[in-house]
Amino acid sequence: MSKVKRLNVKQFNFNSDLNQQSKTINYIALSLSLIVPLFFLVPVQLFVRPYGRPMLLAERFFHNGGWIEIFFLEIYSVTLTYIILYKEQIKKVRIRYWLFFSVIFFSQLILGLLVSEKFLMSGKLHFPIPALIIAGPVYRGGGNLFMPILLLSTIVILGPAWCSHLCYIGAWDALAARHKKKPKPFSRKFSMIFRYSMLVGVILVAYLMNRLGVSVVVATTFAILFGILSLALMYLFSWRFGYMFHCTTFCPIGSLVTLLSKLYPARIRIDHNTCTFCNLCTVSCRYNALSPQDIKKGVAGWNCTLCGDCLDSCHANSIYLSFFGSKKNAWEYYIAAVIGVHTVFLALARI
Ligand code: SF4
Ligand code: SF4
Ligand code: SF4
Repeated sequence: MSKVKRLNVKQFNFNSDLNQQSKTINYIALSLSLIVPLFFLVPVQLFVRPYGRPMLLAERFFHNGGWIEIFFLEIYSVTLTYIILYKEQIKKVRIRYWLFFSVIFFSQLILGLLVSEKFLMSGKLHFPIPALIIAGPVYRGGGNLFMPILLLSTIVILGPAWCSHLCYIGAWDALAARHKKKPKPFSRKFSMIFRYSMLVGVILVAYLMNRLGVSVVVATTFAILFGILSLALMYLFSWRFGYMFHCTTFCPIGSLVTLLSKLYPARIRIDHNTCTFCNLCTVSCRYNALSPQDIKKGVAGWNCTLCGDCLDSCHANSIYLSFFGSKKNAWEYYIAAVIGVHTVFLALARI
């Protein structure tokens, strides 16, 4: 073990690069990244017209534009999957496409408000704050359940990928955390207690607002303050300590996603037959889910979002995704499906 501990970072990356190059192309995975967007976007283009308007943006500007948009999105999905699996380490690429999605999402909102309503989905504005996915329906006493259903659907299909690939806010927490080269995580016990208290607290406050008949203006002000606090936490903690404090300790939706994802049959595991317990991989995790204790246990911690950042970080190829207990091609298929859904979100996620 002492020999491995002396590996320098250069050697470590070199080995990871070799691991990348030695892979053979999995055409089924690439096909999956093609099929998933097709499965969702073609019916949307053909049949779905909420509010009397096409959902795909290009179709709103010119006839058959939706088909051209689908064509380019398909190329995007397959190319991105190929790059992740065979060209670049996911750790380098993930933050870029996650941020890209968030920038597209918020750009459309700004263009919708300032330039043309065509950039909005419904035109009915709501605040893009993840906590409102649960607090909104509780406060309203029901109503539009699209976002909670969407969230639950992604958990059923992809487990916790919402919090590593699909959320328009989490990307900024990830960016803030990467400001530091090495994460300095907080106590997990504190994070756990605080985040589930937040979940209960947000539901309770929304329920009380409903029962007390609190006006929309007051509820909206409360939501805005919550959003500002979220940004402040990203700066105060994630930026300074190098791990995603906002997502792993504060956000109630993150708590829910992590909890429900425990029913999903995929886990990040460590193969003790090859692991040298050098702990070099621990720095790659910004979710506070890969401590030396987790490595000894052979499985990533509670907060793991299956982001995959740690997979390429092991010189011994000991970290893998296990799906229903099997690791054969599990990561390839999983990330292909995630990128497919990410592509669908890119096309359809708008306010
Ligand atoms: S924890 Fe919250 S803000 Fe972070 S990615 Fe998940 S839902 Fe988004
Ligand atoms: S899994 Fe982590 S601790 Fe084990 S050999 Fe790989 S880098 Fe080292
Ligand atoms: S353990 Fe690995 S896959 Fe899980 S959150 Fe950490 S870096 Fe991502």
